[in-house]
Amino acid sequence: MKEKNRVIIIGGGASGLFAAITAAEHGAEVVVLEKEKKAGRKILKTGNGRCNFTNTGDPSHSYHGTDREFARHVLALFTPQDTIAKFTAMGIYTTNKSGWIYPHSETAESVLTSLLWRLEELHVKVKCNENVTGIDKKNDVFTVFTKSWHYEADKVILACGSAASLTDKQLPYNGYDLIKRAGHTCISPLPALVPLKVKNGNMYKWGGVRTNASVSLYAEDIFIAKSSGQIQLTDFGISGIPVFAISGQALRLMEGGLKVSVRVDFFPELSDDALCALLRTRREQHPDRSTANLLTGLLPERLIHAVSTEAAEKSGFHDRTTNGRRRNSDIPERKTACTGSKEQDLSGFDEIRILAETIKAFDVVVTGSQGFAYAQSVSGGIPTGEVSADTCESKKMQGLYLTGEILDIDGECGGWNLQFAWSTGYLAGKHAAEAL
Ligand SMILES: Cc1cc2nc3c(=O)[nH]c(=O)nc-3n(C[C@H](O)[C@H](O)[C@H](O)COP(=O)(O)OP(=O)(O)OC[C@H]3O[C@@H](n4cnc5c(N)ncnc54)[C@H](O)[C@@H]3O)c2cc1C
Repeated sequence: MKEKNRVIIIGGGASGLFAAITAAEHGAEVVVLEKEKKAGRKILKTGNGRCNFTNTGDPSHSYHGTDREFARHVLALFTPQDTIAKFTAMGIYTTNKSGWIYPHSETAESVLTSLLWRLEELHVKVKCNENVTGIDKKNDVFTVFTKSWHYEADKVILACGSAASLTDKQLPYNGYDLIKRAGHTCISPLPALVPLKVKNGNMYKWGGVRTNASVSLYAEDIFIAKSSGQIQLTDFGISGIPVFAISGQALRLMEGGLKVSVRVDFFPELSDDALCALLRTRREQHPDRSTANLLTGLLPERLIHAVSTEAAEKSGFHDRTTNGRRRNSDIPERKTACTGSKEQDLSGFDEIRILAETIKAFDVVVTGSQGFAYAQSVSGGIPTGEVSADTCESKKMQGLYLTGEILDIDGECGGWNLQFAWSTGYLAGKHAAEAL
């Protein structure tokens, strides 16, 4: 009987390195094949170089994919607490920011170093510049081909991630092709956690603005999802963590041929009525200010321009002071009230109400994304139904395991993607080492 399982891991990223440590700790002889010059390069980019490596919050709504239950199941088998304990044992002291867990050093480098040192202790070989081009299996033995060599193994763990964040130099990505021959299918991969390109005639001057907002995703005017926090406005669209949170779904819906839009609420702290009341009070206090100037101190200047122009377009009026001079914006004139509310004109037109509504509901049409190169993750990939949720072993080819981003699961920001990589890496490493 063989003493040790020979395990080859394709991909020296988060899930591959974690699988390698686990497999070696469970007694396997492990080799990692990594196509880049160095292993773990993506880990260094995570969390803006600070590596938000797990999350202690509730994972039940933190993943997308055709079967989110798969993510819940693997996280129950190797939990965020298990991750923290493992990294603590490898020398990482953690810091907790509202459930988002970072190394206390706040450098991703220390996370990668701790993984590489542990691999060294376990005598795992990490072979870089080894681009895997094919996998074959005959008589229970795998052959893994690279451009210059071939390796034999009893078990293979495919941990080669996705095309997210790859530069032109790092493309093409061949992860899905490697296992098509094994009978696996692939749900079309799309960028996720990515800035969105959007269209609205009045957003052209808002580039560079960062502001607190909530973004609601709609498909054919049906509400889909909402997220809040700091967003960034760019010349081409919208970005930031709340936008990332809805981006994967937005692109998937667009792929299905639906018209997708985002409603941005630039003042989520106040309800429509409360914002309207605030603006009316300002109007009382500053009757000579243009309507746009009432927003100074409430919104960033470049956003005021976009919002006030949009409101003016909605109302079809020009902004003038009561003495008839044109104001420095295109917001409609405040007319003397003669019915009900002071700001309502004879036709029932209410400039303050329209302005408040525009601030609370600025609609943009989604036209696409910045693409894989700017994505932190990918939606789609190998359907999780083709993989055991207990072991991460392929249901199509015995002895082959799949981990991390190659699977059709994508997590939200906050450490969930790395946690999925650690959980699937742990399960695959453990079972590949143990199963003979
Ligand atoms: C900018 C950025 C910031 C992020 N921040 C966070 C964060 O703070 N928290 C979080 O949880 N997640 C974050 N993520 C996501 C997280 O990094 C990934 O989900 C995670 O790294 C996926 O792990 P993986 O092992 O599946 O793939 P990867 O880490 O991508 O590893 C795959 C490896 O396989 C190699 N490879 C590919 N093809 C081959 C081949 N044919 N032969 C040999 N090797 C191959 C690749 O070079 C790569 O090293 C971030 C991602 C990006 C891009």
